[in-house]
Order: sequence, then structure tokens, then C-alpha cells
Amino acid sequence: MIAIKPKPDFHVDCPKCSSTQSKADAWFFQGMHFLAEVACLNCGFEFYQTLPIGHDLLFPMQISKDGKQSFIPSRAKGWLAEPLIQSLIQKDAKVFKIEKQVNREFDKVVIVNCLDSCFGHIFSKVWNTYTLIENKPDWGIIAIIPERCKWLLPEDIAEVWSVSIGLKQCDQTIGGLDEFVKDQLSRFEKISFSRTYTHLDHTKYIDMGKVLKIPRFNLGNFLTTAPQITFVLREDRFWLNSHLMDFLYKASRKFKVEKLIFPLLLWRQRQLVNQTGKMIFDSVPNAKLSCTGLGTSGKFLDLMDDHRVDHILSETEIRWNAIYSKSHLVIGVHGSHMLIPSALAAGFVNIVPRYKIEHLVEDTVLPYTNRMLQFLGRFLDEFSSPKLVSKHISSMVKDFDYVNRNLEQEPEGKYY
Ligand SMILES: [Zn+2]
Repeated sequence: MIAIKPKPDFHVDCPKCSSTQSKADAWFFQGMHFLAEVACLNCGFEFYQTLPIGHDLLFPMQISKDGKQSFIPSRAKGWLAEPLIQSLIQKDAKVFKIEKQVNREFDKVVIVNCLDSCFGHIFSKVWNTYTLIENKPDWGIIAIIPERCKWLLPEDIAEVWSVSIGLKQCDQTIGGLDEFVKDQLSRFEKISFSRTYTHLDHTKYIDMGKVLKIPRFNLGNFLTTAPQITFVLREDRFWLNSHLMDFLYKASRKFKVEKLIFPLLLWRQRQLVNQTGKMIFDSVPNAKLSCTGLGTSGKFLDLMDDHRVDHILSETEIRWNAIYSKSHLVIGVHGSHMLIPSALAAGFVNIVPRYKIEHLVEDTVLPYTNRMLQFLGRFLDEFSSPKLVSKHISSMVKDFDYVNRNLEQEPEGKYY
């Protein structure tokens, strides 16, 4: 935690002259980023310094007040730093409605900033509210979060400050947030900001059933219920298994005309899903197939239950979560939309675009700590065929009993 009140526990060296003498005399609550406004007492350089919260913990950044000079770790440049710099240069921030929900009053509070433009990041930032409630019971925990995601928070959280904002807009300066937070801070005697770790070890610290408000698949039912296989689809990230179509997709994105070829890509993805479905039925005749996802274009196999929607509401997510928690396996293309399905289903097949390889582990959260993790969590290359995907699915269904029985064995000599 970073103490802010009564005495800030925060210091920064000047990135220009390396002087340790600097003065941080104001905060700016941009949105995803909490910033200190700093002046170097040696060279006079005035800059914003990110507070070590969320991804800014691993990638600290300093940006001059006019946005013209920046000191950025190379790994953070495109996705983290550029939107921040642009948002600081842009003067007229769009104002969003912020709602305060107070469940319990506290004099001392920890603020967890869950704002992010990526759902997967919000999901893992939320985990910090659960660990803090457990570890700091005499402190009030406050979450700042997009309104759409507040259902993920603990029911006994002290306060929720929710912003009516689309996730993609969360990398901009959120107009009204800075004034709102500063106004609220005057209510408390002691304030700390949570470091809001991204990607805490969920197997050690997080009860996923509590976060998602529904128990995950019970492995004890794997063999006693008909295999439920669920495709988790998107209409903006595709399984294409075609180098030509992949080239067309990437070229169209480069020239920002991707919507022109979306019908072709959606047709191709549908063709692959249907072929895979048929092959699964051939080898696992009692399988039940379903699909979820945002976007309802085209039709799938008659035997597939189609739960796709054009707009995601809270009720949609609750309905989908019930499907995932009954799914033996979920199949999807790597992207943050696989986090919740993989948290609830028994296992997954994750089709990985090659540009996502460096982010391989960020998309799935199976809880196993033994060989079941490899057995029920499969990553396949984006150019995998329906035959290969269905072969993995078939093996995971049919070989589960053998793997599970081996894992249940206890060493000889202890009890008999
Ligand atoms: Zn300096």
C-alpha cells in the first residue's frame, strides 16, 4: 500500500538530472493512472510521475508537463505510455457520470483503482479488493471501477465509486474523476492507495467462486454428466487457420478497413467451428455443444445451442457464467474474454495468435496445481485445423478418467 494521508510515503528522483531532491505537491487522478505532479529542486524540471499502482508498478513513467519529454520503459511504450501521453496533451476530457455507493463508513481506507481499458486487467485488479478485505479488516476498502464490472466486487466492500464508461474509453483522461476523488479524500483521516497487483497468483490467494458469484465446474461431475463443450466466440478476433486470410486481416487493420472483410472472416470462423463441432460429435456422440459471444451473425450447426447476443448486459454475463460453470471444456481464441470461461469450466482449448505468445498466461485461470493443469489447459497455435482441435477435445474427454485416477493415488505405506 502507498500511504497518502496524513503523510504521503512517496518519493521520486528527477529523470533528467538524477537529483534526489524533488517536491511532489499535487495529485492528478487521470483514470487508469494516478499521477504525482513533481518539480525537481535541482534543475527545475516539472513532470508527472505515475504512482506504483497496477501496471505502473512494473513500468514507472515520467512525463513532462507539456507531454513533449517522457521517460518510459521500452516494454510499456505502445500500449501503456502512448495513451497516457495523449490523454495528458488533450485538454478537453470527456466527462463521465460517477456514482458513489457507501456500504460501511470507515475513518481509514485503502483505495483500489480497478479502472482499465482491458477487461482482463480489471478482472485481476479486482482480486486485490478480496485480499485486502481479508488482510486489513479494520480498514475500509474502496474500489474505483467501470460500472459494467462492479458485479465482480466483494459484497462486503466498504465503498464503490463506479464510472459509467466503456472499457475502451478508460485509457483517456476521465473528465470529472480528479475533482471527484479529491473531494472524497477529505472525508477520511487515513488514506492509502493499493498497489493493485495485476495477475496475483490466483491459486494461492483467490476464491474464484466468490469473485464470480457462482461455483466453478465440479471435477467430480466430469464423468457423470454428458460432455458440455462451449465455444466462446468474438467477432473482432478470429480463428481463421488460413495464412491468406490472416494476411488480409492484418493488412485491413493496418489501413483501418477491417470492417469491409469482416463478413468473409466471420464466414471462415463459422466454417471452422461447424467442422470442429461435427468432428466432436463423430468421436464423442453424447457431447452437448453451445456457443456464447458478442455478435450474432450467421448460423451454427442445428445441434449447437446458440447463446450469443448483440449487447452484453449484466443478466447476459450471469447466464453465460452458468453455462461456463457446467462446461467440461471451453474453446476460444486468446483474448481477455477467455478469463471467466476458463475460471469456471473444467478445462479449455485456447487458440493463440502468434502475436499473443508473450501474453500466453494472461488469458486463463485454471486452479489446478498438478498435471491436471496441463491436461485440461491446452494452448494451440492459431493455424490449428478443426481436426487437431477436435482431437484434443476428444482426448480430454476420453482420457480424463485415466489421468484423474492416477492423480488420486496416494503413496503406499502411509495408511496400509
Ligand atoms: Zn532535475
